[in-house]
Amino acid sequence: MLDLIIRNARIADGSGMPCYHSHVGIKDGKIVKIAPFLPEEAKETIDAAGLTLTPGFIDSHSHDDFIMETVPGLEHKLTQGITSDITGMCGHSMAPLSLEYLEEGRRVYDTLCGKGVVKDYETRKDFPTYIAALPANFGPNVAFHIGHGTMRTAAMGFAQRRPTDREMGLMKDELRKAMEAGALGISFGLIYNPGVFSDTEECEELVKVAAEYGGDVTIHMRNENDRLLESVETVIRVVKETGIRCVISHHKAVKPANWGKSVKTLELIEKANEEGFDIFLDQYPYIASSTGLSSELPKEYLALPKDELLKAMRDPSERKKIVEIMCAGSSLEERFGNLMIGGSLAHPELSGLMVSEAAKILGRNEGETLLDVLLGDDLSTSEIKFGMCEEDVERIMAYPRTMTGTDGLWFPGAVGAHPRAFASFPRVLGHYVRERRVMSFEEAVRKMTSMPAAVYGLKGKGLIREGFDADLCLLDPDTIIDKADFKNWNAPCAGLKHVIVAGEVVVTDAVWNGKLKGTKLLRNW
Ligand SMILES: [Zn+2]
Repeated sequence: MLDLIIRNARIADGSGMPCYHSHVGIKDGKIVKIAPFLPEEAKETIDAAGLTLTPGFIDSHSHDDFIMETVPGLEHKLTQGITSDITGMCGHSMAPLSLEYLEEGRRVYDTLCGKGVVKDYETRKDFPTYIAALPANFGPNVAFHIGHGTMRTAAMGFAQRRPTDREMGLMKDELRKAMEAGALGISFGLIYNPGVFSDTEECEELVKVAAEYGGDVTIHMRNENDRLLESVETVIRVVKETGIRCVISHHKAVKPANWGKSVKTLELIEKANEEGFDIFLDQYPYIASSTGLSSELPKEYLALPKDELLKAMRDPSERKKIVEIMCAGSSLEERFGNLMIGGSLAHPELSGLMVSEAAKILGRNEGETLLDVLLGDDLSTSEIKFGMCEEDVERIMAYPRTMTGTDGLWFPGAVGAHPRAFASFPRVLGHYVRERRVMSFEEAVRKMTSMPAAVYGLKGKGLIREGFDADLCLLDPDTIIDKADFKNWNAPCAGLKHVIVAGEVVVTDAVWNGKLKGTKLLRNW
């Protein structure tokens, strides 16, 4: 007797081949039978007439490691069809933490995970300990990268220089331990503290270690606006020198002056791929990015200790200076015109408003509004910035080696966030595939399933095949659509009937039933 039979489904099997009709039998969490005639009995049957069955989606760029120890269900992922989460991105992972630089490490976690959320050193002293200490089950499956920034903080704090031989050795040891414990590879975040202080040589040395294990590298590049092409060229150089499989994170061209540069970046990337190298991209399907609002502050102020920075932000003459530096000669309207307040706990009424709208409500100019909101939130406000154009988003999306990744982040109790955390996958299928015809449905499903499974080496995932894991989505391609936007940031999508993890239904009509069927996906090197 089977556990579950899904009858009469139209199947997009994840390979990109045209859909076909069949029945699918599931037992012990695996797909055991795919056949047009399936006389077996099952404990449970789903009649899927009129619906399409796909492999469960793989979020190729997730930051859920920041919250999954607090909210292991990760419901916002399950309810958009995501059954596997690739975490540890942009140079940040939840281990290692060192005693030598414990304060620095905790400071990073305060900004990433919320103040005081990460307290213990014992379970984070190295990657294997962290992985072992995590609970066995989550909503979706979870896979891990080790973050270069996290390793660097543990080895040398926030030092703004090259690592010494000893520090380099510490990082390499950590990386080896992580790879042996099942990490997929290493991630870089080259705009963040402390990744921003590393040079290409340092990165390349570490990439070589990940490559020794057959691992991958994911890179949030040094620049995604005026120096976008140079950044892509540097990545390609490192890939050619190390032979590593590489994913360029959340690929985009930011600022009107750089719109259209994706033509050239894709050309460069495709040329390297034609030469036999392996470069992939991930992308979230929006023209707006999101990060901390504090990133708008001038660098020289961000380098100050926090209490001095807050003091300067309160001082009338310093405030004026900060706003002047931020504007750098452009008008307040030009400078802040594309900026939205993401989530502000101190000012929930301003969340989801453009800074200019918030300024009108507070009766201050845009620059002062930004400073006031940041002060109220103790710098933890998030921002949403409309910096990209649709042509680039669609061009990058259509590239055969682009995967969907949410890059989303949301905290329990949040009052606002970028909707990408909740709606990226339904948005690609509904808006970009059905409405905009950027690519075929089958191709989009391939890029959400078998492609990330191959890139990240997830065995038994990403295809509807006998013997593969029964992680599945049952959806209606004619109605699936994102409902979340910048105001209703956490609205569940429409058109997704069931999500199945390890052979069990966990979501029906956008409602999670509380089951934790996902496991830790560790590479066996
Ligand atoms: Zn990033």
